[in-house]
Amino acid sequence: MPHPPEAPAEHIKAHIRAHGPLDVGAYMSLALSHPEYGYYMTRDPLGRGGDFTTAPEISQLFGEVLGAWVADIWIRMGRPERFTLLECGPGRGTLMEDMLRAVRGVEGFHRACAVHLLEISPALKSLQAEKLAPYKPEWHADLAQVPDDLPLIVIANEFLDALPLRQFCRAEAGWAERMVGLGAEGGLEFVLRPAADLLIPAAFKDAPDGTIFEISPAREGFVRGLSALLKRAGGAALLIDYGHAATAPGDTFQALRGHKFVPVLEAPGQADLTSHVDFEALARAAAGMDVFGPAPQGRFLHNIGIAHRARYLMQKAGADQAQEIENGLKRLTDSDQMGELFKIMGLSYGQTFALGGF
Ligand code: SAH
Repeated sequence: MPHPPEAPAEHIKAHIRAHGPLDVGAYMSLALSHPEYGYYMTRDPLGRGGDFTTAPEISQLFGEVLGAWVADIWIRMGRPERFTLLECGPGRGTLMEDMLRAVRGVEGFHRACAVHLLEISPALKSLQAEKLAPYKPEWHADLAQVPDDLPLIVIANEFLDALPLRQFCRAEAGWAERMVGLGAEGGLEFVLRPAADLLIPAAFKDAPDGTIFEISPAREGFVRGLSALLKRAGGAALLIDYGHAATAPGDTFQALRGHKFVPVLEAPGQADLTSHVDFEALARAAAGMDVFGPAPQGRFLHNIGIAHRARYLMQKAGADQAQEIENGLKRLTDSDQMGELFKIMGLSYGQTFALGGF
């Protein structure tokens, strides 16, 4: 029997009644990843019938040029006979499928490539299994399970934004943590809990009252784990997401439902909860790695030849299809679309070359 739609909210309220207010990260984890009610655990959130759409779902151009980027790295690594291609949070498997299809002409690449996927959602796993069956992927729930005995190339698109964040708020008496508690009527409401300001960078400690500052130990922990893995295995990673290049205050916690923004506490378990990624914090977490960018997505994709790929496909397409390809190109790269807000950061370890695109 499926749970009624209000089950996740009721579960979260019961949790707060029993244990007190939750920090934003704990709220987000329960809403997104609770094994029974969690948003990602129960559905395919992507595409027209879902709550949000992503670059690979908008246009095949995205996966095709990233496939060429991966093949370029593999060639410059000296074409290792076996390597691991890991995608984190592969959604419907579209990006991986487009990448692999685009480079099937690269001699030896498919034979060398072991496809690994990091995914928690059973619903999305089954879509990935269907789409990627010919490539015999292996799934992991945790970065710690990914093998480190082969060179590694990693792609993560809109993965980090889904990992939990915490929010601090400057109040009259000093900094406080923004928590999810219960209002007088029993509904979910933000409450403040006094907190040490140790996690607030010196430059923002004296910000005006009401200023929100976000941190994400989960994202930084992921990048530390990924860096450690890349140091053991050798290789490179691309982290792609919406966010800011420099650490800055601001409230970016957001909920999307049916392609519309809704209040973040309104429908836990039924809306996608994310926030903007702080790439400066990620770069700090990647200490000891070679870090590239972050570059705005538009510039990166143009640098790796997305316009050429679009022109090539448009020449072979009918008028309607050509228009669709051009629309996709614009959406992915124009600065008032995904071209500026989305950023791409590269990490590498033990390589003699600079990563392409930056
Ligand atoms: N990269 C895809 C999907 C982005 S949605 C695309 O661009 O279309 C976020 C993806 O991350 C989903 O596949 C979701 O199930 C997965 N995910 C979210 N939190 C995760 C976690 N903690 N561990 C592993 N996968 C996670």
